[in-house]
Amino acid sequence: MNSQAFRGDFAPDVVVRLAGPLRFLLRPRDRAAGERRLRFDADATVGHVVRAAGVPLTEVGELRLDGGTARPADRPAPGSVLDVAPVTRPEPVPAGGFLLDVGLGSLARRLRLLGLDAAWSPEARAPSADDADLVAQAVAEDRVLLTQDRGLLMRRALPRGALVRGSGTADQLADVLDRFAPALAPLTRCTACGAELAPAPKAEVADRLQPGTRQGYQDFSRCTRCGRVYWRGAHAPRIDALVRTASEGRGLIVG
Ligand SMILES: [Zn+2]
Repeated sequence: MNSQAFRGDFAPDVVVRLAGPLRFLLRPRDRAAGERRLRFDADATVGHVVRAAGVPLTEVGELRLDGGTARPADRPAPGSVLDVAPVTRPEPVPAGGFLLDVGLGSLARRLRLLGLDAAWSPEARAPSADDADLVAQAVAEDRVLLTQDRGLLMRRALPRGALVRGSGTADQLADVLDRFAPALAPLTRCTACGAELAPAPKAEVADRLQPGTRQGYQDFSRCTRCGRVYWRGAHAPRIDALVRTASEGRGLIVG
């Protein structure tokens, strides 16, 4: 046996094995096996190896290296097997609430409708410079960044992030509510700007209402930032249905 064949037979790879819910992050050809085989690199930490397999650390829960508990800063050995579990749900929401990537405006409005603090700005972001701005905002305001951009979650400076599953808004909302199980407070925030609403005397808002609304409703609230006026009108059944769906199976207290 020559040395070339020997190395080929016993290549000191590191095997990254992903739990089922994370396997969609693997290359298509690796998904059935649920693992990615990477060439051993003495400089690579567990965190490097996880990212090299395509998985942002924001999506990772328990790590086991050759059967023992591991941290991202640990180092695999030649031939190591790393088992990666998904993040444990529900995760706590940081004090600042949520920050949504530019493509998730519909999700932001639904989170606000349910009373959640969801910062979102529609300004298109350039590939790199504004990614840094989003990360900086998440850090400065203690928010968890919600995105469908895996590359954004790979940024080391980002302390809290989540890869939102689902292509439609309803699925995305279900994923966020399942992942964070936040306490809901429907109709307490402005869907347009995200600020809190305060009760508004009818006399102060009457001039901004259509005649039918003016006659049919007594209780109004107004955005404390942009002044938009809200009442439980035509949208109430839809909002109630949304809250019911959001609360299903989670035993939430909705107030
Ligand atoms: Zn507003």
